[in-house]
Amino acid sequence: MKEFASLTDEEVKTLANTGGLPAEVADHMIENVVGGYTYPLGIAMNFRVNGKDYLVPFALEEPSVVAAASNAAKMARVKGGFTVTNTGPIMIGQIQVVNVPKPDTAKAKLLSRKDDLLKKANEQDPMLVSLGGGAKDLTVKKLSTLKGPMVIVELIVNTGDAMGANAVNTMAEALTPMVEEITGGRVLLRIISNLADRRLVKATAVFDKETIGGEDVVDGIMYAYAFADVDPYRCATHNKGIMNGVVAVGIACGQDIRALEAGAHSYASRSGHYKPLTTWEKNRDGDLVGTLEMPMAVGLVGGAAKTHPTARANIKVLGVKTAIELAEVMGAVGLAQNFAALRALASEGIQRGHMKLHSRNIAISAGATGGLIDMVARRMIEEKRVRFDRAKELVAEFSNEKKQ
Ligand code: NAD
Repeated sequence: MKEFASLTDEEVKTLANTGGLPAEVADHMIENVVGGYTYPLGIAMNFRVNGKDYLVPFALEEPSVVAAASNAAKMARVKGGFTVTNTGPIMIGQIQVVNVPKPDTAKAKLLSRKDDLLKKANEQDPMLVSLGGGAKDLTVKKLSTLKGPMVIVELIVNTGDAMGANAVNTMAEALTPMVEEITGGRVLLRIISNLADRRLVKATAVFDKETIGGEDVVDGIMYAYAFADVDPYRCATHNKGIMNGVVAVGIACGQDIRALEAGAHSYASRSGHYKPLTTWEKNRDGDLVGTLEMPMAVGLVGGAAKTHPTARANIKVLGVKTAIELAEVMGAVGLAQNFAALRALASEGIQRGHMKLHSRNIAISAGATGGLIDMVARRMIEEKRVRFDRAKELVAEFSNEKKQ
């Protein structure tokens, strides 16, 4: 690899450094491991969720996200913080059956054998069942597709403190012979659905109008929300802001963030139109009320949450005891992040705060090192010219001064 990519010794050393993840553990997590990749880890402050205080670990590369979340959480505290509910850790496993001679009859037969099918599914995971989880229900739907009619069996599984993909996939695969025998068709795909619409969190918070900057800010945020509600171009960015926080906590706590993203955006599109994952309204006192509703398929057992030592330590910092509690905190974070972005956008714009925090990154990419980083960043902020070309000039200027 060194030869192929003409890497220097220094670059090889950088790639090989696995940081807080022992190389041996990394090697067992994925394939063809050559090293590690480290993100900055920041702690979002001020979060009160369902009456409990949390320090929330964020792992991400984007400046201003942690500051924005902390600031939003501080404002939410004035009216008691975030209240979050959930629908339980319920995931859906899909079994696709093709070439079914009589799809409607097959559907009825599958439903009449529901108890046998659930029993077979639960035999695959006695551990989960002993903890109160397991396959709880089964539904069947008929789809008209490009390849003709198909029967889809959906297994409804309580995955407890697991995200549940492996658990559900194992159950779905185990049902193959029975489903084929009952339907007379051929089973093809057997896999969890990431549209986890039975595993939702609903977070709400009241933001005191005076605390957030007055009536104009409340109205500004409602206009911003109204824009996202009808325009997918704006809505994509609205929801991206929510995911800034959700994904950062997800990475810090060893979650499958692809699953979180897939769940979020498919849920946002469930009506056939891409919609915001939050709603914003004004209450009788003129305060702003935000609500976020989205799937949150996270776990504390299985996956990197258990294998990655940094994820384990972060979960300890966060102090969550169940997957549901983790999901609820992440829902509060998503709502806080959305509020912070909309408040900035609807008032002074995000660039002032963002670029201030971004100035150090720009200084580094322009070649500043050591004490020069802060010197260049500070000067750019003073001049209100946080730009790469200016950073380059300043690096040269300060370096020359040093030499003289
Ligand atoms: P897992 O199989 O490692 O752990 C789940 C198992 O842990 C359960 O089946 C149960 O037997 C046991 N368990 C012990 N204590 C438990 C408790 N308190 N609650 C629940 N279960 C308990 O992991 P998983 O959560 O089934 O699968 C998650 C992994 O699957 C992730 O790494 C994810 O990236 C991956 N994955 C995702 C997809 C997808 O999202 N489409 C597809 C395939 C795999």
